[in-house]
Amino acid sequence: MTARTHDAFAFACLVTVAAFFPPQNLNLATLVVSVIGADIGALIPDMDGAGNRLWDLLPAGHNMGKILRRIFYKHRTLTHSIIGIVAIYKILEWVLFKYLNSTFLDPGIILASIMIGYLSHILADALTEEGVPLLFPLSINFGLPPIKKWRIKTGKWFENFVVYPGVWIYLIWFVQIHQSELIQIFRLTGV
Ligand SMILES: [Zn+2]
Repeated sequence: MTARTHDAFAFACLVTVAAFFPPQNLNLATLVVSVIGADIGALIPDMDGAGNRLWDLLPAGHNMGKILRRIFYKHRTLTHSIIGIVAIYKILEWVLFKYLNSTFLDPGIILASIMIGYLSHILADALTEEGVPLLFPLSINFGLPPIKKWRIKTGKWFENFVVYPGVWIYLIWFVQIHQSELIQIFRLTGV
């Protein structure tokens, strides 16, 4: 999947989860950071490639990306596995609860949002031909549907003209159906 599809899919997943599992409390800053967080979460798994947008945001990031790519040898390994998911969760949990000022930002909601973005990335990649190595270091790739031929080719017309617009159509439809729940969430911020 391309970064653009991952962005849109992460946002759609965040909105969906929020409607079904609305937060108890939410301030505006947490809401804004959560939306950005889901997007960042969706880009983290591909940080094993040098072309990742996140690397461009960091000083000397491009070189770091190149070095990491050499370490990981090929794209879609540790970051797309269960070990990687648990590790990133534990690291983020530690960092966010330790360093975020919880008077302004809710670390639990932000952690959940980043992980929704992250998991949405793994799910989206599972829909592609390559699949995801969930049990890395075992080299078994999992995909949905299990038959490889039925899965999506990354960056090809089906992704660009069917999957990507499809995510937005889903989002518009979903927001209409769940308007009241979503408005309720906005009301929590007091805006
Ligand atoms: Zn990926």
